[in-house]
Amino acid sequence: MAVIKLRRDKRHRIYCPHCTRKAGENRRVWQNAYDLPLGPVNLVSIQYEAIQGYCSGCRSYFTIHPHGIDRYTNATKRLMHYVCRLCRFMPGNKISIFLPVSTSTARRWDKRILTQHLPDPDLNNLHTILVDEKSIGPHHHYLTVVINGENGEVLHLAEGKKKASLESFFQKLTPKQIKKIKAVGMDRAGAYKAVVREYAPKAEIVFDKFHIIANINVAIDDVRRTEWNKAKKEDKKFIKGQRYNLFRNPERLKPEQASSLVDLFEANESLFQAYLLKDALRNLWTYIYPKWADKYLSKWISWVKDSEIQPLIKFAKGLDRDRKEILACIKHRITSAKLEAFNGTINRIVKRACGYRDLDYLYLKIRQEGSPPVLQT
Ligand SMILES: [Zn+2]
Repeated sequence: MAVIKLRRDKRHRIYCPHCTRKAGENRRVWQNAYDLPLGPVNLVSIQYEAIQGYCSGCRSYFTIHPHGIDRYTNATKRLMHYVCRLCRFMPGNKISIFLPVSTSTARRWDKRILTQHLPDPDLNNLHTILVDEKSIGPHHHYLTVVINGENGEVLHLAEGKKKASLESFFQKLTPKQIKKIKAVGMDRAGAYKAVVREYAPKAEIVFDKFHIIANINVAIDDVRRTEWNKAKKEDKKFIKGQRYNLFRNPERLKPEQASSLVDLFEANESLFQAYLLKDALRNLWTYIYPKWADKYLSKWISWVKDSEIQPLIKFAKGLDRDRKEILACIKHRITSAKLEAFNGTINRIVKRACGYRDLDYLYLKIRQEGSPPVLQT
């Protein structure tokens, strides 16, 4: 351990931090602050004199610490910034390999620096926003997330998936900011629609591709389950383990996954049809004009009816009912890439052992992902 002692230069006068008048010194207290490693020495402690003074002008007591020392954490600001930068790329529990800092301290410092230096989200120019619920952790803890539909910035993170979780977002906005919002993307199920109707009646509700595809995957899973129950013993082996392959888009299948799907489709026609119909539905979002998309949607619904696959027919009826909101997605050119990217980010951050119990910290970490790689101050 290296100790660096700092003494105050007595030629400098003391000024009151409140009213900047000259002030008197009451006493000095020796204090410690940890600093960056010095060559091979990992643990560097700076000992300095904190000066306690009294200002007769505004009748207040104050303590002066040297510039660059964070008085609340007993560390220099540059050490905290360094920890913050490391925390961006590695889990908090790995920091102790490089620095004599415990996991909890590393996280506390990281949170403190991010709170101080991350800029607030820009709420002034919102045109489209995406609302989603996200389940994380082993106990299916739910979060409500609001993302800027244009640049993917995370605007809001709240516990739960109820009305109140989204209301707290709209309560942050001014009437002028709300007025600018033209479209709100969301899932068809859930409590968000009512909140948007109430707080932003002018905004159009949009059911985006990301959620519709998630919905059809649920329907396809239903098909898979019924087919499994119907299948003869020797055919079950084809269905087994195919759940996630059926969810994947054909272009994302690895060769071995694709070939096992082909085997399944040869054995089971209903699942093959369901998979083709899902793939056909994805074409809906390639249309530029809502009118043409509308025609395609009608066509798709009639294909489903012909297929006589019950879970899909039920799903198609739902689409028919929500036609307006689905086509609004094409009108407002909302892409689900931002939501998908966000899902990847949050999974990565939670996995990196930031945990999710401290929601404020999780929010900061997610917002940090959208900022330049090194947060310089
Ligand atoms: Zn004063």
